[in-house]
Amino acid sequence: MADRKTKIIYIVGCSRSGSTILDSILGSHDDVIGLGELEKVHEAGWCGEDYCGCGERVRDCEFWTAVHDRWTGETSADSQRYMELQGRYTRVRQLPRVVAVSRRAAGPFGTYSRLTVALYEAVLREAGTRTLVDSSKNPVRALALSRMPGVDLRLIHLVRDPRGVAASLMKAWKRDPRAGIQHDIAALGVNQVAKGWSLVTRLSDWILRRSPPENVVRLRYEDFLADPGASLSAIGRAADLDMSSVADQVISGDPIHIGHTVAGNRLRMQQAVALRKKDDWERSIDPEVRSVIERRCRRGMSRYGYAPGEGGD
Ligand SMILES: [Zn+2]
Repeated sequence: MADRKTKIIYIVGCSRSGSTILDSILGSHDDVIGLGELEKVHEAGWCGEDYCGCGERVRDCEFWTAVHDRWTGETSADSQRYMELQGRYTRVRQLPRVVAVSRRAAGPFGTYSRLTVALYEAVLREAGTRTLVDSSKNPVRALALSRMPGVDLRLIHLVRDPRGVAASLMKAWKRDPRAGIQHDIAALGVNQVAKGWSLVTRLSDWILRRSPPENVVRLRYEDFLADPGASLSAIGRAADLDMSSVADQVISGDPIHIGHTVAGNRLRMQQAVALRKKDDWERSIDPEVRSVIERRCRRGMSRYGYAPGEGGD
């Protein structure tokens, strides 16, 4: 137990890039549990009002209550303390601090690292699996995890065409907690989307370059939809898992079960979903938005093979 590291498949990337469905698909492997954005469990789940994918509030959900009791029992920590620590290593402006952390067990990062691994372990024990998917997406958290001696990190950088991301993020949503929308979501402006997409994509890329190449996957959401079998096999190689039965299930069109998923998008409240075949942003995007995105994200789009004027292939 002492030298066994906790295996985490971490999905890094922009919001609305398909991480919730990928998380649930990976979680359908017998030895993997996928539960959404673990970064938000304390604040939005245990201390907040968020609903779990099972339909209960996270703090009333049997699974998350068992995880909470196990984690507090084993660490004697509380969520307040954890959130303070997490808040030091979460934001882009804190990146230099995360780069500089020492791997020593002493100090605040050592405590943060120990409590994070204990949380992952509590989830794994309750779920009875050996691998956990964390789809928090935040690249700063990815870097922090890569600095934790107890974590065996496998990274998936999930990228979606920024025009698809814009079409999704530029819609406003009314609060509907039972449908997975915890608060009113304002539509983002096109410049905000372009800037966010470029920043997150560059940062995620940078973190992947710093990681062992055999443990990382760069995955375009569109390629995943077009050929889930090939994408899952690439993920399987990076995560040392045989994903063939998961791929068979997805390809056969069987619904994907959504478990005790926290945060993530509203999809997670549907309990079972099927993977669509193709992204459909082209039908809903405003032509002016499309041309701003194509101009402002030109470099990143070309790096990921998204051609201006072309559809969501
Ligand atoms: Zn639940």
